[in-house]
Amino acid sequence: EAKRQGRNTWHWYDGSDAQHGADYAQLRHDLMEAITQHQFVLHYQPILAAQSQTVSSYEALIRWQHPRRGLLYPGDFIPLAEQTGQIVAIGQWVLEQAAKDIAAFNQQSAGQQAVTVAVNISPLQFRRQGFYEELKRVLRVSGLAPELLELEVTESVLMMGADRTRGILNEICELGVQVSIDDFGTGYSSFSYLRDLPVHTLKIDRSFIRDIPANQRDSALLQGMIQMAHQLSLNVVVEGIETLEQYEFMRQHGADYLQGFYFARPAPLTW
Ligand code: C2E
Ligand code: MG
Ligand code: MG
Ligand code: MG
Repeated sequence: EAKRQGRNTWHWYDGSDAQHGADYAQLRHDLMEAITQHQFVLHYQPILAAQSQTVSSYEALIRWQHPRRGLLYPGDFIPLAEQTGQIVAIGQWVLEQAAKDIAAFNQQSAGQQAVTVAVNISPLQFRRQGFYEELKRVLRVSGLAPELLELEVTESVLMMGADRTRGILNEICELGVQVSIDDFGTGYSSFSYLRDLPVHTLKIDRSFIRDIPANQRDSALLQGMIQMAHQLSLNVVVEGIETLEQYEFMRQHGADYLQGFYFARPAPLTW
């Protein structure tokens, strides 16, 4: 727990503006090495079917084994990587590694229900020319069935330039790859994109769950979001389930899939 708290309070920038600039340059440089020196690792957190309580998919979550600073969490370096554009190379690595990991995992557990892998895709990566080709390449080299790959994008991605976004989504959809909207409810909250963009799943942000069941407004919002999703034939994942009460509440109110520390923390994939 100290580590998780630490990651929220830990700042790379610390001190004067000069120090700030130096640290920025250092981190940027370290990030370049991280890619070539294979310092990134993926942890996986299961997403469970609410009724059967069986694992339906694993979300890949990146960590950085920094040579001097120890294990760093995405909050420590993803924002900078987005700024510098390094997120594109990092994201490509994540996509390919996650697809290979889960293809191997499913092969090892042949005979059991195959699991899906959910990969977070940054806006830059998603909108880049060639993302579709990259996706096809990853499916080919990993041997993962397209239906077993799920891309998590945030609402902001869908709000940017509707035509281009629709084009990319249609291509992804034709491949058979699924798309879910991550951190749903925290973005610009215009529902217009839900009307006509091909997405499969709403992943409700954990800020709506934190004070459940005590907070009645949050309860009402959650129930409303679940109903709306179902009327649009979308699946609902609720993230951030930490207690038995939250689990029971979400199951009672019809959430399809659940994810959170109550079930499992992100960890290296083992089988
Ligand atoms: P996210 O995609 O919404 O992932 C869920 C985050 O919530 C993860 O944090 C996870 O460890 C945490 N979490 C899961 N269950 C619980 C819970 O019950 N309670 C609490 N308090 N937290 C929970 P993490 O791994 O630090 O990742 C943070 C964010 O970094 C992710 O949010 C995602 O937006 C981003 N991220 C992670 N991996 C990647 C990646 O490979 N590429 C990109 N572009 N972004 C990534
Ligand atoms: Mg996610
Ligand atoms: Mg999320
Ligand atoms: Mg989140």
